[in-house]
Amino acid sequence: MKHFLCVLALVTLGMNAQAQQKKGKELFKHVVIIGIDGLSVMGLLTADAPVMHKMIAEGAFKKDARTVLPSSSSSNWSAQILGAGPEITGVTSNDWKPDAKHMTPVAVNGIGRSPSIYDIIRQQRPKAEQGVVFHWDDYGRLLQKDMVNHYEYAKTESEAAAKFAQYISAKKPTFALLHLDHVDHAGHEDGHMTPKYLQSIAKADSLVGTVLAAIDKAGMKDNTLVMIVADHGGIKMGHGGESDEEINIPVIYYGNGVKKGYKIQQPVYQYDVAATVAFVFNLEVPYSWTSRPVKAAFKGFSEPTNLKVGL
Ligand SMILES: [Zn+2]
Repeated sequence: MKHFLCVLALVTLGMNAQAQQKKGKELFKHVVIIGIDGLSVMGLLTADAPVMHKMIAEGAFKKDARTVLPSSSSSNWSAQILGAGPEITGVTSNDWKPDAKHMTPVAVNGIGRSPSIYDIIRQQRPKAEQGVVFHWDDYGRLLQKDMVNHYEYAKTESEAAAKFAQYISAKKPTFALLHLDHVDHAGHEDGHMTPKYLQSIAKADSLVGTVLAAIDKAGMKDNTLVMIVADHGGIKMGHGGESDEEINIPVIYYGNGVKKGYKIQQPVYQYDVAATVAFVFNLEVPYSWTSRPVKAAFKGFSEPTNLKVGL
């Protein structure tokens, strides 16, 4: 009987989450993304990172999400927010600049840029507060500044996290993204998986703790999805290539409504970030996106039924 009641409760919970989606309700009120440049799977799992390790234990985790190619920063950070890879967005390298002539995107918004998750939120939730704090100055060019309410560059990782925490406290944003660059610096300067690289991840971990504390203090903890993402991993002194160390990246989903201690089975691609954010806010996405939501991370949603087809 007890078992039956548990199953009944789980089925009811699942039906509730799916019914909520159908009725147009959001799964979460807020989404906060922390992007750690150059965070490899092995680095995350090896470093002294108690905050993120707890998030993995209490949330859903994909240890081998796939970058787009090249495994460079711009192509991957842009894929996350533009919901598609370089062949569709036109952001094919770190040389990409908004006003220069590059490969034509498949679809463009009013100012000729690939539609981003920021556009989608702005269009369908006009009053939503959206913001970004970034530690790599070139990250900023990937965004359309006027789509966000808050756009701030920080010189150091600590300053970036502090400014981001302040922003969360002040505005309780609907969608906010923090970019931290220092782990990538350590990978290039000292080499990936060196003690300094692992120390830089430990530092990132403490800054993730700063952000979680700000979310808690702002009273947002119970209805915020937090995602930890990376643009690429790295090998020896760099990245950009096709080795497993470069193309496998971790993704952590954490919050009330995320499955606890769950290891995601479905393939997860870099560009799935955009559709996952749209999914939890119950927004319609552009047809030009290849992005698909990682529904399996959330309570009440199963792995795709066609996961084993062809295998
Ligand atoms: Zn990078």
